[in-house]
Amino acid sequence: MKLYGAIEAGGTKMVCMVAGGPDEIIAETRFPTTTPAETIGRMLAFFNEQMKSHQLLALGIGSFGPLDLNPASPTYGYITTTPKPGWQQTDLIGRLKEELKLPVIIDTDVNAAALGEFTWGAGQGKDPFIYYTIGTGIGMGVRANGGLVHGLTHPEGGHMVMKRDPQRDPFEGFCPYHGDCFEGLASGPAMNKRWGQKAETLPLDHPAWALEASYIAQSVSNMVLTLSPQRIVLGGGVMQQEQLFPLVRREVQSMLNGYVQSPVIMEFIDDYIVPPALGNQAGVLGSIALAMQALV
Ligand code: ADP
Ligand code: ZN
Repeated sequence: MKLYGAIEAGGTKMVCMVAGGPDEIIAETRFPTTTPAETIGRMLAFFNEQMKSHQLLALGIGSFGPLDLNPASPTYGYITTTPKPGWQQTDLIGRLKEELKLPVIIDTDVNAAALGEFTWGAGQGKDPFIYYTIGTGIGMGVRANGGLVHGLTHPEGGHMVMKRDPQRDPFEGFCPYHGDCFEGLASGPAMNKRWGQKAETLPLDHPAWALEASYIAQSVSNMVLTLSPQRIVLGGGVMQQEQLFPLVRREVQSMLNGYVQSPVIMEFIDDYIVPPALGNQAGVLGSIALAMQALV
């Protein structure tokens, strides 16, 4: 069996895994994200221990960002301008590469999750394919034309400009950069600030859900119009509220208003905007899939 290492690096917790795929998970550990030195130290301890009994072929990392993903850059693999205290300009891959002596491949947490869902989950055979996470932050990973999308930097769909009706939603958003961007209006903490209680405690019939769905639908509609994805997965903590799915689907149909003449949108949208098939393992399994790419 070919085995790989994976790290899902999140702002609150880290998940490390050794696996050959979703059905061949050998070991997994999670610990809180503290300082870079301590956190990277714990990653090294886990993989060093695992490598005493397993040969790993490569290490894949899906990380919070923003990240420098330009292989020609002297700061390749760094977390760059994150607002997370202590983590600005952190070399995430240097020590791992040096001490584990493995090929390391890194991408955004959401690109990794997109690859995970593409490889083993709801994105199989779908190109372009988009993965959103709607949780503490909002992120968007894109796989298109056979690969994960990078460019000037990488897609930052969580900060998409939103149309907000101040009558319906007087909350001005809380993104430190943009105020009422997508993340500023629709992330879990945005819901918490707007309604004065955590999203998971809001009742099913609360108007919060229709408003939330309308922001998600704005972003999804814009992506349908720009990239013409073949399927869209909506993941992350907030999307555990299953009632959001039908609301988002109806809003997308209403916003597109018959313009995108595909039966997938007009009739089969239930199969188009879907939850992640890998659940909360999309990110870490996607990082296993990233590691597999290090060798091809
Ligand atoms: P992270 O984004 O930190 O990886 P999550 O995707 O679980 O973690 O997102 C956490 C956010 O999602 C929090 O703001 C929380 O309030 C919200 N959240 C978590 N679970 C639920 C739920 N079942 N319903 C609504 N919101 C939730
Ligand atoms: Zn923003």
